[in-house]
Amino acid sequence: MKFQPFHNLFFSSKIGAFSRVTNREFQDSQITLTGLEAEIIIDYFTIQNIQTGNVKSNPTKASKPFKLYNTDKIINLNLVYPKPKKPELRLYISNKSGFKPTGGMIWFIFINNKNELVVGALDEITWGSLDQYDIDDNEYTNSVNLTIPKKINIKEIPTKGEIKKIKIKGRTTYKRNPNLAILRFEKSEYKCEINANHRTFTSIKNNLPFVESHHFIPMKFQGIMDYPLDNLDNLISLCPNCHRAFHHAIIDEKILLINEIYQKRKKIQNLYSIEDIKGFYNCIRV
Ligand SMILES: [Zn+2]
Ligand SMILES: [Zn+2]
Repeated sequence: MKFQPFHNLFFSSKIGAFSRVTNREFQDSQITLTGLEAEIIIDYFTIQNIQTGNVKSNPTKASKPFKLYNTDKIINLNLVYPKPKKPELRLYISNKSGFKPTGGMIWFIFINNKNELVVGALDEITWGSLDQYDIDDNEYTNSVNLTIPKKINIKEIPTKGEIKKIKIKGRTTYKRNPNLAILRFEKSEYKCEINANHRTFTSIKNNLPFVESHHFIPMKFQGIMDYPLDNLDNLISLCPNCHRAFHHAIIDEKILLINEIYQKRKKIQNLYSIEDIKGFYNCIRV
């Protein structure tokens, strides 16, 4: 499966692919490369430099360097076309070489920003949890919670405009306007957009139901967008429970939330398919 924008952002990769290691592949110590996995590897090593036939017939040519994910290590793995007609490309995995993911793990290859070919594997839960922690989203939520609402003149709020980078506590992030979130709350009548009946509590700040603001297309993707994601259409008003679920729920539950908001946002429907949105949320099933 192809890396989604989410993966490219997380791994600092240009292109990548992932799939589940089967028990058979684990037992046989070999992975059959298909689709994009094969394309990336062939593109990287070039087809002439990949050994045809078994490893023993030319061990030097068969051995290929890969950078091991999350380390500075370069490991050598055997890569061959077992048959002369090159119908399949085969990668050998072993403990000796330093890469032997077990059956059920998600293995991946990608080209990083330094044009290195990286190989790695993560267990399914770790893979599914990659985007749980979003420090900027947490800071933003706090800043909106602490902003005392004032009367906002709608014309003063730009929905188009420049994308501003700012530094907060040493991190570079993108500017968000808390007043825009408050405007979203007003439009949504301080209700949860997943279900208007979700009850919260009365906020001491304004004597209104407490709600939180979330960017439907997360702000972390601002770098690959040419328009500001901090806009009224992209902001959603949520009860704290639904907001946490957007960040921490299992794939099936996240998809329910995504579908609910997607059908309410016509402008977003014109820009992205529902599959695109799932890709922003690490919601692709392996
Ligand atoms: Zn959020
Ligand atoms: Zn809710």
